[in-house]
Parts: sequence; structure tokens; C-alpha cells
Amino acid sequence: MTRHPRKALIIGAGIAGPVAAMFLKRAGIEAEIYEAWPYSTGIGGGLQIAPNGMHVLAELGLADELIARGSIAESFDFYSQGGKRLGSLNRNMRERFGQPAVNMCRATLNETLVDKAWSSNVSVFFEKRLVKIEDRGDQPVIVYFADGTTAEGDFVIGADGVHSMVRRHVVPDGPMPFDTGLIGFGGFVPRAVIENLAIGQRVETTFGQSGFFGYGFCSSARDGGAMWWSTQPSHGMTAAAYRLQTQDAIKQHLRDFHSGWHDPIPAIIEAAENIVVTDTLDVATLPTWSRKRTLLIGDAAHATSPHAGQGASLALEDAMRLGALMRDGQELGLTFQNFEHERRPRTEKIVAIARRNGNSKRQFSPTGAWIRDHMLKLLLPLSSRGMDFMYAYNPRAT
Ligand SMILES: Cc1cc2nc3c(=O)[nH]c(=O)nc-3n(C[C@H](O)[C@H](O)[C@H](O)COP(=O)(O)OP(=O)(O)OC[C@H]3O[C@@H](n4cnc5c(N)ncnc54)[C@H](O)[C@@H]3O)c2cc1C
Repeated sequence: MTRHPRKALIIGAGIAGPVAAMFLKRAGIEAEIYEAWPYSTGIGGGLQIAPNGMHVLAELGLADELIARGSIAESFDFYSQGGKRLGSLNRNMRERFGQPAVNMCRATLNETLVDKAWSSNVSVFFEKRLVKIEDRGDQPVIVYFADGTTAEGDFVIGADGVHSMVRRHVVPDGPMPFDTGLIGFGGFVPRAVIENLAIGQRVETTFGQSGFFGYGFCSSARDGGAMWWSTQPSHGMTAAAYRLQTQDAIKQHLRDFHSGWHDPIPAIIEAAENIVVTDTLDVATLPTWSRKRTLLIGDAAHATSPHAGQGASLALEDAMRLGALMRDGQELGLTFQNFEHERRPRTEKIVAIARRNGNSKRQFSPTGAWIRDHMLKLLLPLSSRGMDFMYAYNPRAT
């Protein structure tokens, strides 16, 4: 195996890819990023970066910019379908964990990361869809792209997300993404739609008899400054099938599904445009995260359903810890083993929490929903403390 690797080929310019490239650069390793899609802006819905992820962005000098372009989330408040308050989580994050949780547009995050990678002299190549990896012992590793071109390097980092092609190279007969039976809808509405509610910097969320709805501010933009999302049982419908429908038909579906839910949910649905529909996927635990000179990070290694709000933060942590371990200058295979040894217990614990959280968004009987709501009232204060380990982690202090 290569003793002193100099050049990394990173597959995927989502969240883990550009950040890993920048931290590898700090470790003296040149990194090139290859992304399947063309360069574009404005893609995706909103997301929240938790304090643990914000620590990584702070290390790159990006926390202040993203706080300014996003919106600090001061708590997560929970309601019943009829609007009864059930409780609150994640208060005073900045005070307790050194960084706040920040809502932002996914596009803002991605564009900021790619720009920062560019300005750090990382080469990012778009429209390069990886199809194959060839690792021939002492020769450089070769990656093959769908357009017939290739690239060579000393090692490969698979930061290519939940549908990872690199994962297939690392674990050829390994698990594939599976549908968790829930489907996500989301997007942005003008700030004015929720401004009169005086929710301040709270993220408000509602458990229905079936499904879940959430909203909060995500930027100071008047037009798209509030984000919202709806999670519901998919009843066999895929995101792709919804995407074939018109926006009007999707909106009608949301109106019907959330009919009778408390205000301002109906008004948010009425104001919604460009609704994004996503499958809610999960991947079973992989037997290994690396094979020879190829390592998986982020969702490629430990895809998590979105119900813990941690996938992006874990991807950021992975990227930073990989850079730190590479700086130790150990043999590549050993570095990959150390990375997996360190990261696996934490990521698996959080993936399990996300799976559990997803279960409370499924279909309940009226009595079942009543019991769940009462249990939530009792359990929220306890589960709040049980989740602190996620946010308290600072990859710099590791
Ligand atoms: C609806 C939804 C809401 C979410 N909300 C949150 C949230 O609030 N907070 C949070 O922390 N997480 C959230 N997540 C999870 C989070 O989005 C992921 O965990 C995170 O994006 C993982 O980052 P990544 O870099 O590993 O993968 P990605 O961000 O998926 O990036 C992978 C990149 O690889 C590229 N790629 C794929 N295949 C190839 C190929 N063959 N060749 C080249 N490039 C390729 C893709 O185009 C993509 O750009 C949410 C997820 C969903 C679906």
C-alpha cells in the first residue's frame, strides 16, 4: 500500500466531499473532486446544521458567514395535530455547545462549500459520474467516468452519498438503500407567511395521527426566508412518481393530507411553490468502510434517514476527522482502519436514533396518536438530555 499518499480522488461534491478536500489539503495532500451533476445553484430544500457540524464549519472559517446567511434555531417545539403544545428540545445550543444550530438552504451550504474549496485551490470537476474504480496494487488507482474519461490518484474517497457507487466497489455485494416507507415534501415560503406568529427563532413541528410537519426561518430573504417540510407514510408511492405530477397536484395532495391540521400549516401549503419531493432512505450497516485504497465517508458510509437532523453534520465531522488522521502520516490502510474504528460507534448510534424517531411519524390509530402525544409530553425532557452527546461533540477536541 502507498506509504506517503500525495493525491486523493474524491467522488462527490455534496457536503463531505468539498470539506474533506480542504482538510486533506491542510494535511499536505492534493485533492481533486469529481461530481456527477453539472454545476448549478439553488438546488434542494432547507436543512439544519447542528452545533457539532457548525464546529467543523467554524474550523473552515465559514460559521459566521453561514449564520448570517441562514437563521439560528433556538429550539425545536412540538405540537399535536390540533395545536396543543407537547414540549420543546434543543434550547440554548450556543451557550451549551459553543455553536448554535443553524437553519439554512441546502443550496447556500453547498455553494459556500464548493466556493471555499475552489478558493483553497481544490479542483472540482462537474459532469463526472464515477462508474468504476480499478486498484492495481503498486500502480495509481484509476477511476472511470461515464463520459469515457479517467483520473489517477493515490487513493479514493467515496463522498458520493446514499446511492454511492464507491460503496459498490468497497462492498460489492453489500446492502443497497432501502425505502423506509416514509416520503418527504419540502420547500420555502415567504417569511410573511409565518412572521405574524412570532415564533422567533423556534422551529415548530407537529405530530399528526399520520405524518409530521415542520417550519421555521432559514434566511433573511423576504421571498424564501421560511422553510417547511412534511413527512408522511409513502403508501408505496415513490418520490419519482410524485415528481411526474404537476406542482398543483402535489399541492392538492398536501392540502388533503394535512386537512384539519392547526394554523399556520394550511397557509404554508397554500403559499408553497417549487415543492421538492424526496424518498426517505436508509442503508443497513456496512461490514467495512474501506477496501485497499478506497474509503467511504458521509452518507456513503453510514446513510441516515433525516429524522435526527444529523446526516450533514456527521458528514462534516467525518471530513474533518479524516484530515486530522491523515496528518498523522500513518500507512493508508491503518489510517482507514483508525477512521472507521473511531467514527463507527458514534455514527451507528445516531443512525439508530434517526430510525427510532422516524417511527413516530408513521400512521397511528386515534388512540395510538393520543398515547404517543402524552408519552412525548413526558419523555421530551428526558430525551433532550439523552441527545446532548450528538451536539456536544467537537471534532477539534478529539
Ligand atoms: C429531505 C432530507 C432532509 C434532510 N435534512 C437534514 C438536516 O436538517 N440536517 C442534517 O444534518 N441532515 C439532513 N439530511 C441528511 C443530509 O442531507 C445528508 O446526510 C448529507 O447530505 C450527506 O452528505 P454527503 O456529502 O455524504 O452526501 P450528499 O450531500 O448526498 O453528496 C453526495 C454527492 O455525490 C454526488 N454523486 C453521487 N453519485 C456520484 C457518482 N457516481 N459520481 C460522482 N458524483 C456522485 C451527488 O450528486 C452529490 O453531490 C436530510 C436528508 C434529506 C433527504
